[in-house]
Amino acid sequence: MVKIGIVGFQGDVQEHLEMFTRISGKGKNVQVQLIRKEVELDSVDGLVIPGGESTTIYKLIKEYNIYNRIKEKFKDGFPVMGTCAGLILLSKNTNDPRVEGLGLLDSEILRNGYGRQGESFIDDVNIKGIGNVKGVFIRAPVIKNVGNSSVLAYYRELPVMIYSRFALGMTFHPELTEDTRIHEMFMGMIGGEGYISSGEGIEVLGE
Ligand code: GLN
Repeated sequence: MVKIGIVGFQGDVQEHLEMFTRISGKGKNVQVQLIRKEVELDSVDGLVIPGGESTTIYKLIKEYNIYNRIKEKFKDGFPVMGTCAGLILLSKNTNDPRVEGLGLLDSEILRNGYGRQGESFIDDVNIKGIGNVKGVFIRAPVIKNVGNSSVLAYYRELPVMIYSRFALGMTFHPELTEDTRIHEMFMGMIGGEGYISSGEGIEVLGE
């Protein structure tokens, strides 16, 4: 059984929960714990930071000491996935003093980097090891620099999905589709089928 935590203050919490519910409906043994207290982090095998408003989520995880506990646990190989605002929170440099990134990904981010024109759009994104998924971009950040992270997908020449060690982040929202493959990939980072956790990050099988 894999137990996944979802930071449960704001944003696409319910949508992530539904993704794991779908996965469990396919016969995978997964449980979800909403994380609103530091101590709740100790009962889960991996964590999702949802899309939403990164300044709000940041404020709350700081206030409840979840921020520091995530950092500590990550040193011991605790897998974390962030979507959109979640990716901003995982990054080293957010270029915004209101959001101090956790630095679990070496990336540099520009919040709302697609600007007003491109505030929201949906288009196919081709992901290494998965294939095409529907990328839902909502006031998406731009990854200006991936640092030492590896890129799993580009969209129009910009990296949109990256990982390093046990952190996986993307600028779009897989939780707003019905496609569970990215969530299953994350479960694989924790130690599931299809992908294996090698201790070095995700090893993509079948390439
Ligand atoms: N623009 C938002 C932020 O910076 C992220 C958008 C999202 O998660 N859909 O927090």
